[in-house]
Amino acid sequence: MKYALVTGASRGIGKACAIKIAQMGIPVIINYQNNIDAAKETLAQIEEAGGSAELLQFNVGNVEEVDAAIDQWEANHPDDYIAYLVNNAGVRHDNVMFMMPLDDWNSVINTSLNGFYYVTRRLITKMMMRKHGGKIVNMASLSGIKGMPGQTNYSAAKAALIGATKALAQEVASRNVTVNAVAPGFIESDMTKELPVDELKKLVPMNRFGTPKEVADLVGFLLSDAASYITGEVISINGGLYT
Ligand code: NAP
Repeated sequence: MKYALVTGASRGIGKACAIKIAQMGIPVIINYQNNIDAAKETLAQIEEAGGSAELLQFNVGNVEEVDAAIDQWEANHPDDYIAYLVNNAGVRHDNVMFMMPLDDWNSVINTSLNGFYYVTRRLITKMMMRKHGGKIVNMASLSGIKGMPGQTNYSAAKAALIGATKALAQEVASRNVTVNAVAPGFIESDMTKELPVDELKKLVPMNRFGTPKEVADLVGFLLSDAASYITGEVISINGGLYT
């Protein structure tokens, strides 16, 4: 059986991706860091709709936790493999550079960039060895394309993730594994709920924030057979908010 792992699937965009993937008939592994109640809510929504999912707690930025959780999952699923991976977990700690604490720099880079490396390196070999290959989607951001003041840490992490997406895509293309990135603009979620929405949405040609479901529909497409010849791409989803 082929599974999908969505990191940071307890809330926001990751939750919507898990629900979308389950609707596509793929069993989903719901990763979360702390928020077990929210993760259980994602699980319940999937199961109520007739889908299949399970929880897997780990901090994507802690290599020992990632290895232990995936070891355990593989031991419990000897005949299965994770063919679909959405590297979605991410955090935001905004500040202008001259006031940015080292911890805020490190935590944002560690979650988005090191987290991508820790999880992907564990799954890529099995994807490459299987006839059906695999599909990876990395959650980047407009901030990683354009650069956003007050987000040097976040822009750096997401820009690096885009570079890694393009490099890895070329490494594994011949093994039927695709690697793409999605670059959302402003999306309604806990991450953006404290922003001045009324001011910011004036910057967006569509005059609104996007929804997690709209991002999940794009991720679902990139994980589907319809996207089998797309790799190494960064697809923006931002209501027209281009650089
Ligand atoms: P969110 O609502 O704050 O949700 C973040 C999710 O990531 C939660 O499920 C959280 O788990 C999980 N998470 C955080 N750190 C983790 C870690 N170290 N290990 C495992 N899970 C972790 O955020 P969101 O808005 O949905 O953002 C999801 C992704 O989209 C992020 O990569 C973000 O950078 C990107 N993005 C968001 C926007 C936007 O406007 N919202 C725009 C561009 C890109 P817990 O519930 O356990 O804390």
